[in-house]
Amino acid sequence: MLKLISLLLLLISTNVYSLPQTPFTLTCTKSNGAVVQTMTGAGFGDIAQSTFINGMPVIMIDPYHVSKLNISVQAWMYSHECGHHYLGHIEKGYSWATTAQKQAMELEADCYAIQVLRRLGILNNHDVNMILGVVSRLKQNDLAHPSGIVRASQVSSCLNKTNGAS
Ligand SMILES: [Zn+2]
Repeated sequence: MLKLISLLLLLISTNVYSLPQTPFTLTCTKSNGAVVQTMTGAGFGDIAQSTFINGMPVIMIDPYHVSKLNISVQAWMYSHECGHHYLGHIEKGYSWATTAQKQAMELEADCYAIQVLRRLGILNNHDVNMILGVVSRLKQNDLAHPSGIVRASQVSSCLNKTNGAS
């Protein structure tokens, strides 16, 4: 019942997500070009989550919690969720994957997020340092996510790979 009530709170559905307090918008597609919708609401148990609702790929955002984050961190977090969709993690069986497999997928989404934002040209060095600082302090709330230190190290190394690519 609680779950049903939570879903009813997801009132806004859009395919262009305007981050709170930012001048830019972000969109998300799967690798086959399918548009990923963004829904905002509360009570789904996380700040943001990638999922499917009625077969439709969705990023769920809790705007209250998200608005407390620095704008660069908001963008990275949204792109991390997009990465799960783009990389097909849910279809690959995220829910029943082993801890090691889940952690690998989380790091893959972390990498995807920073590389996409860098390519979009919306991050300066200060923004990157802000993201690295916040990520490094992320608490390991579950076994699916590696420690913040490991994740920040991953983000940093993915960024260097972006710089070297054409
Ligand atoms: Zn994730």
